[in-house]
Amino acid sequence: MDIAEKIASLRKELSQHNYNYYVLDNPEISDYDFDMKLKELQKLEAANPDFFDPNSPTVRVGGMVTKNFETVVHTHRMYSLDNSYSKEDLEDWEKRIQRILGDASVEFTCELKYDGASMSLTYENGQLVRAITRGDGFQGDDVTNNVKTIRSVPLKLKGNYPPKFDIRGEIVLPLEGFAKMNQERIEAGEEPYMNPRNTASGSLKLQDSAEVAKRPLECLLYNIVGENLNVSSQFESLTKAKEWGFKVPEVAKLCKNTDEVLEFVAHWDKHRHELPYEIDGVVVKVNNFQHQDELGYTAKAPRWAMAYKFKAEQVSTVLESISYQVGRTGAITPVANLKPVLLAGTTVKRASLHNADQIEKLDVRINDTVFVEKGGEIIPKIVGIDFTKRSPEAQAVEYITHCPECDTPLIRKDGEAQHYCPNTYGCPPQITGRIQHFISRKAMDIEGLGGETVELLFKEGLIDSYADLYTLKKEDVIPLERMADKSAENLINGVEKSKEIPFERVLFALGIRFVGETVAKKLAKEYKNIDALMSASAEELVQVDEIGIRIAESVVEFFQNEKNIAIIERLKQYGVQLEIAAEQLENLTDKFKGLTFVVSGVFERVSRNELKKLIEDNNGKVASSISSKTTYVVAGDKMGPSKKEKAEKLGIPLISEDEFLAML
Ligand code: AMP
Ligand code: ZN
Repeated sequence: MDIAEKIASLRKELSQHNYNYYVLDNPEISDYDFDMKLKELQKLEAANPDFFDPNSPTVRVGGMVTKNFETVVHTHRMYSLDNSYSKEDLEDWEKRIQRILGDASVEFTCELKYDGASMSLTYENGQLVRAITRGDGFQGDDVTNNVKTIRSVPLKLKGNYPPKFDIRGEIVLPLEGFAKMNQERIEAGEEPYMNPRNTASGSLKLQDSAEVAKRPLECLLYNIVGENLNVSSQFESLTKAKEWGFKVPEVAKLCKNTDEVLEFVAHWDKHRHELPYEIDGVVVKVNNFQHQDELGYTAKAPRWAMAYKFKAEQVSTVLESISYQVGRTGAITPVANLKPVLLAGTTVKRASLHNADQIEKLDVRINDTVFVEKGGEIIPKIVGIDFTKRSPEAQAVEYITHCPECDTPLIRKDGEAQHYCPNTYGCPPQITGRIQHFISRKAMDIEGLGGETVELLFKEGLIDSYADLYTLKKEDVIPLERMADKSAENLINGVEKSKEIPFERVLFALGIRFVGETVAKKLAKEYKNIDALMSASAEELVQVDEIGIRIAESVVEFFQNEKNIAIIERLKQYGVQLEIAAEQLENLTDKFKGLTFVVSGVFERVSRNELKKLIEDNNGKVASSISSKTTYVVAGDKMGPSKKEKAEKLGIPLISEDEFLAML
């Protein structure tokens, strides 16, 4: 056997043993023999660098160091999941999808909801080429070197896999391994880690992959995405992924109806502590991919999936005091300061109390013993009071009447739960909050400038509004605490670069109340420039699809304000994008104004998403289900028969892809 053959055969053998051990949980050789073979391979590879293979089993031991994790855009967005908490929630969801699909026999795949770090792996020709963290769903960090050390992640696939695809899943730290890591830390005099999830995601960002290799991480994969996958359902995709060598969720069940789903949920709610990992619920997915395609996505999550969250764990502790925070819109949030207590693996010191009504409703008093629960949100909440432990002297909480930051009397609008500080332009956290929103990633994305620096710049009297950012000079910033020459330069450059950010994001960045990303996009498309938007009345604004009176009034109010007008004038002078770019404008027309389309089936010349974009770019509306309001159904191949029937019954014309494109 020559060297090349020897290396190839050792790699093959070691990969198989790895798979047997970590995926099948069924080792065939001793650890000692495995190590000997690995050492032999390492030696041969070191002596013969020509045979380098980035996916050799030797990369499992790590050694690659990543100084900066590169940001990578996901080819397919990583969505979040909608949550449900009860049988009723699930049944409502089932009804909703049956209505959209026009089909009562929808099947579901139930999986456990692992509490770890989500991950997207890209495979090309059977080789792992990239591993990206979820990030904000649009882009994440390239952690490939670290993920390669996780033994259950296949570096090369087996069987008949598609040439190119992404597979998503969760990286988890099994409880036993977590406990062992903590024991070692305590013995070494170090602070133990808080919980397995944070430790798992923290591990992925370690610079030295040899350190990652030491951690007992596992990767469970459950979602394949890509083109021409030749897989037609979620359940089938789990079976296929398993054949290709992935570790997939052990307990997945195909259910015929919500009763079976609820059975699965009830079982795992009861038995979840028997699992080797932490789970926080069950994920229910519409099984058929054609159905999934028809259902599509909301702005945040697939319509075809639903997380069922288990009831959170509860503990009791003492409420020591209440403090009040002021947000960027002036909203006041009361926060409970608690005697620190351990809850679901983390130490809890604070809990949200939401608003004055909530305090009154709970009748919570200082020094009360309160029940604290952790739901999906980061800050846990107080759900009740142990009245048996209340001291007879306890006084009802008197809600503050003046802003804790600027002492302005608070106001409360009719029908709103929150108190507000009306001193919009003089209240420090409101001023800095607006600027922090302006520079944030989804808004102007100003690199080199962070929240703390904004506060510093404000304190030093260098900025008072986001327009002031554009007049900052390097000399102004250098004297600031902890500001080096290079960072000052980065800040100035970041501000300069933000002048390229497109109008829709600038509009979002302005921080108009109720104008989120989606609304900003709609308004930018409709009005095309800031002047047109500024002169729109509330009556005109509500004519725009999805703009309600609450948003309309808030927009009008914003643009009536002298201060805002002046700020916008300045932004214009500095060269910030306050109109839609010419190229984008070219593609926008009013051709479909007032028309509502339902898109169904598979298309040849454009993808379903391109089709929807074409409709929206031409001012048409895309609806998910057929109703009397539908103008046209754009019917592709394999359109669901029930949809077809419904369209015919309501007399709604079906048009083909070609007919649709001809309309443009
Ligand atoms: P959330 O973070 O609460 O919006 O829940 C969405 C996250 O649940 C996804 O991003 C996944 O990381 C995670 N997740 C865990 N298990 C599953 C599963 N079986 N299917 C889909 N998502 C899952
Ligand atoms: Zn204030």
